[in-house]
Amino acid sequence: MSDIIQLLPDSVANQIAAGEVVQRPASVVKELLENSIDAGATEIKVIVKEAGKNLVQVIDNGKGMSDTDARMAFERHATSKIREANDLFSITTMGFRGEALASIAAVALVEMKTRTAGEELGTHIEIAGSSVISQQPVQCAVGTQIAVKNLFFNIPARRRFLKRNSTELRNIINEFQRIALANPHIDLELHHNDVPLFILPKSNYRQRIVHLVGKSVNNQLINVETRTPLITINGFIGKPETARKKTGDQFFFVNNRYMRHPYFHKAVMTAYEKLLPEGAAPAYFLFFEVDPEIIDVNIHPTKTEIKFEDEPAIWHILSAAIRESLGKNNIVPSIDFDTDDSIDIPVAGHAAEIVEPVIEVDPTFNPFEQEKSSFSSGGGSVSSGKNKKESVEGWEQLYAGFEKDERQSSNDFYEETELVQQTIPASEGEDRAFRSERFFQLKNKYIITAVKSGLMLIDQKRAHERVLFELFMDAVTSERSTSQKTLFPEELYFGGEDAALLRDIMGELHVFGLEVKETEEGKFLVYGLPGHLENISGSDIIDGILSDHKTGEIDLGEKIREQISASMAKKAAIPYGKVMTQEEMTELFDRLFACSEPAYSPSGKIIVTIIGNEDIDKLFI
Ligand code: ADP
Ligand code: MG
Repeated sequence: MSDIIQLLPDSVANQIAAGEVVQRPASVVKELLENSIDAGATEIKVIVKEAGKNLVQVIDNGKGMSDTDARMAFERHATSKIREANDLFSITTMGFRGEALASIAAVALVEMKTRTAGEELGTHIEIAGSSVISQQPVQCAVGTQIAVKNLFFNIPARRRFLKRNSTELRNIINEFQRIALANPHIDLELHHNDVPLFILPKSNYRQRIVHLVGKSVNNQLINVETRTPLITINGFIGKPETARKKTGDQFFFVNNRYMRHPYFHKAVMTAYEKLLPEGAAPAYFLFFEVDPEIIDVNIHPTKTEIKFEDEPAIWHILSAAIRESLGKNNIVPSIDFDTDDSIDIPVAGHAAEIVEPVIEVDPTFNPFEQEKSSFSSGGGSVSSGKNKKESVEGWEQLYAGFEKDERQSSNDFYEETELVQQTIPASEGEDRAFRSERFFQLKNKYIITAVKSGLMLIDQKRAHERVLFELFMDAVTSERSTSQKTLFPEELYFGGEDAALLRDIMGELHVFGLEVKETEEGKFLVYGLPGHLENISGSDIIDGILSDHKTGEIDLGEKIREQISASMAKKAAIPYGKVMTQEEMTELFDRLFACSEPAYSPSGKIIVTIIGNEDIDKLFI
């Protein structure tokens, strides 16, 4: 039998290795950006076309390469960054494996122009599928420009495996943001199909976060700073009330390299303990500096997971640093549910104990509706068809259990209602009179009411969002969503990505009773609307969903139903500016506190706050 073992040709070996380094266009962006940073660039511009599938170009003003280095750079294991095995333990550069350029060149067409400050002329090199096609002198600026074209042109299976442009672009933006956050001192730009997506001038860490995440984040950031012999931690954390259900604004960096670290994430979460609604995570941007010897960046091919020598010790330092920052900002005492005299904000666990009386309240009352008694009358609907009179009785019952001093419950919210309880008159007529003074509206935005410990303010839109959200989720989880057939189906037209998304989620929308079908390419008919919704059209709901998908609030992941519920609730909720009657406010109030999480909106924003009596007294000193 003849020998069968052969050495793989370099081009094949490179392709196989490339699979590890280059998984998608975003990997190219990351590797090229890291190379530019390692080369000391202070200005870097990234240009992508078709989400990087057709072009990823990176232009830097770094130190450039000589002719020989330009060619060498594309060889496997060619790196200027480590010389011996020992160097592996003191890595301070982003790259070090000497694999990226070789891998990229194995699966794309690469063109590079580069020049060092010492040379008059630069070099221009073209490579396709690992072989050099041309190399010649060229006039160019000091620095390096690399264009990577037609990614996976020679591996059709991988090219087909690439996701929709919107998804690939999102990945690119994620990589870009991580690098931008870690390097605020560098001028950075990202352009997609000739549209500038980010133009980030050189700045400090805080400004860079603001540039990337948005102005509103500025006064939500709390400084974190701690210095120990083992580790220095700097950065910012978000105030608990700005914590979101969605993940995405959580960043750890170690020695300026982005890392994922579920264990340290937990450390952060424990420090926030009790300050967050269930399932929400605070934003954080935390930069660790450690001796490179205590980390091993080598454990993951794309290097986002990093192992530390003494992780439990770092956990404690991190957690203490965060508690301290929260404490300094007075956040812990102001919403510490365990302290007797604190401001009492109802939280999920507490309110969840009152399931019983809730049933008496019409769960589908629409504050917009003046006359009709419920949203839908479909057989399996969650609507109980109760009218307002009944719901008033329901409201009384909400507190019934507390009338005869049965208030052993530690439930702060119910204690809040004590005063109110004592003044509820017997007859319904008087009850209404009393109630007409109970709520008032500020700026047509907040509902205000007196409670035992002070003045309670409720954000009307967020409150209604929460109510609708739970209604949708209940209906879906109990498989009791209903759909109202529309008399005249709405015709909607969508192209490209919007149409693709709509096709993807059509099945999910049906679950909610939003019935859509595509009758011809790009033409959609909405022929059924969710049973509990009125005064809103199918196109309103769908537009909301499409735009929430663009901002990443809907990601087609496992939380899709929650996300759709949240999106529909946001669209359908009472807007700010809407004048509300006493009865509408009462209903909304009742229904809000019948929710399992009345304190926070589906996107994690504060719904209810109380200005404490003491604070009010202070105003009169
Ligand atoms: P690594 O970054 O792991 O060393 P790469 O394949 O990414 O490996 O790059 C190989 C080498 O090419 C680098 O070590 C560096 O010397 C050189 N190089 C790559 N990109 C640039 C750049 N933008 N400017 C200057 N030199 C670069
Ligand atoms: Mg590199």
